[in-house]
Parts: sequence; structure tokens; C-alpha cells
Amino acid sequence: LGFENVVHRYGADDVVRNVSLTANPGEVLCLLGPSGSGKSTLLRIAAGLEVPTRGRLLINGIEVSGPSVFLPPERRGVGLMFQDFALFPHMTVASNVAFGLTATPKPMRAQVVDDALARVGLMGYGEKYPHMLSGGEQQRVALARAVAPQPSVLLMDEPFSGLDSRLKDQVRAETLAVLRETGATVIIVTHDPEEAMGMADQIALLKDGELVQAGPPHMLFKQPANLFAASFFSETN
Ligand code: ATP
Ligand code: MG
Repeated sequence: LGFENVVHRYGADDVVRNVSLTANPGEVLCLLGPSGSGKSTLLRIAAGLEVPTRGRLLINGIEVSGPSVFLPPERRGVGLMFQDFALFPHMTVASNVAFGLTATPKPMRAQVVDDALARVGLMGYGEKYPHMLSGGEQQRVALARAVAPQPSVLLMDEPFSGLDSRLKDQVRAETLAVLRETGATVIIVTHDPEEAMGMADQIALLKDGELVQAGPPHMLFKQPANLFAASFFSETN
């Protein structure tokens, strides 16, 4: 997945300023930055929930957003796991996971749902309702729903923010293991440097809509591009 010179403007405000960035299959890219730095906007552009003001977005080498191209979310092969895309409370776990399987032939869906639940360690949970599950389990259902259609790109906006800190480390590790198995291109938005350090193959650090620095975690930590990058990471220690 590639962002090419992407600009996004709300009214008179440029909230994404000429960002170019690549995320590769099998890798986790973390978009990291303080509140308002444009992380969610970039993710929504990748998802097709937002049309960039300028620039292009490529998925698997195909232009999906650009000056004269716009592919809607359902045609991009992306899986979404957003804070505000919570589980449907009135639907069983199995129905929740089946929700994104519109492209899967009906007779195959139950098997795909079972497989996805098994991958996140929730075999046999299909007939339960979300309120019967712990926070961590609900999180795993959301992950199963995102990976079930086998998207080539997985986009996650602050996926662990709703969990108490006690659970976070374990859920992060489990999630990472599931993500690795999919081989998908994964983009995770977070404002938590520690989370990015722990999960990312590549980190893109953003500030005021601009890309400050991109690279592997150890590089950002050891060779911060500027004072902002240095202070952002030192806050964790
Ligand atoms: P946070 O960590 O708080 O989620 P973020 O890095 O995800 O922040 P964005 O949500 O991408 O930031 O927002 C970037 C900027 O764009 C902010 O200044 C925000 O107020 C503004 N913005 C976001 N959505 C809209 C909108 N629909 N209309 C106008 N301004 C918006
Ligand atoms: Mg956000």
C-alpha cells in the first residue's frame, strides 16, 4: 500500500500535508503521533472512507484514490478494525464475524466463521452474544471479523484503546500473532510510542499532518530526526 503526496483539507485546514509512505505485505506499519496529527484521517483515506484532496493511494499496485479514481471501501480488499466499528450487540458472535463476508458464497460462510474464530482462540463461541464476553474476548471477535474475509490490507485505528492496561500487553501479543499469520499489509494507528515500538516493523511519526520520520522502531529511537521525535520517544522511558 502506498500513499503518494497525499494532502487532506478540511475547510481551510490542511490536516494531512503531502504524505508519502509505503506499507508492505506481511509487515505492520504504525502511524504514530499526538492527537490531531492526522493519523485517523490517513487511515480513513486508505479505507476509502475519505477522499484525499490531492495525491494518490495505491493498493497492490492499483490506484484506488487519485485525481480521477475512487474505489469504494468494499472494493478495496481492506479489513477495518476501528474503535467506532464496535460489535453489533444484538447479533451473535458468529453473525458479527460473518458480517463482512458478502463476497464469500453463502454455503461456505459458516466454515469461514469457524476458522476465523479458531484463529483467535474462540472456538465454540459462535452462538454467544457480545455482552456475554470479556473485553479481551470481544476484542478477539472484532479481530476475527476483520480477518475473516482475508483482506490483503488490515487497517486498525487505536484497536487497544478500549482495553484496561492489565489486558493490553497480552491482547497486543495475541493480535500480532494473528496478524502475522494473515500475511496482510497491516496499518495500526496509535498515539502510544510503547505500543508502536512493540508491534511495528515500520513506524511513521506524524505531527500536524506532516510525516516527521519513517523507519524501523530502533532507528526512530536511536536516530530521531529532530527534537520532536526525540522527545516523543523519551516520554516512554
Ligand atoms: P487522535 O489521536 O486524537 O485520534 P488523529 O491523529 O487521529 O488524532 P485526525 O482525526 O486525523 O487526528 O484529525 C486531524 C485533524 O483534522 C484534527 O485537527 C481534527 O480536528 C481535524 N478533523 C478530523 N476530522 C474532521 C472533520 N470531519 N471535519 C473537520 N476537521 C476534521
Ligand atoms: Mg484518531
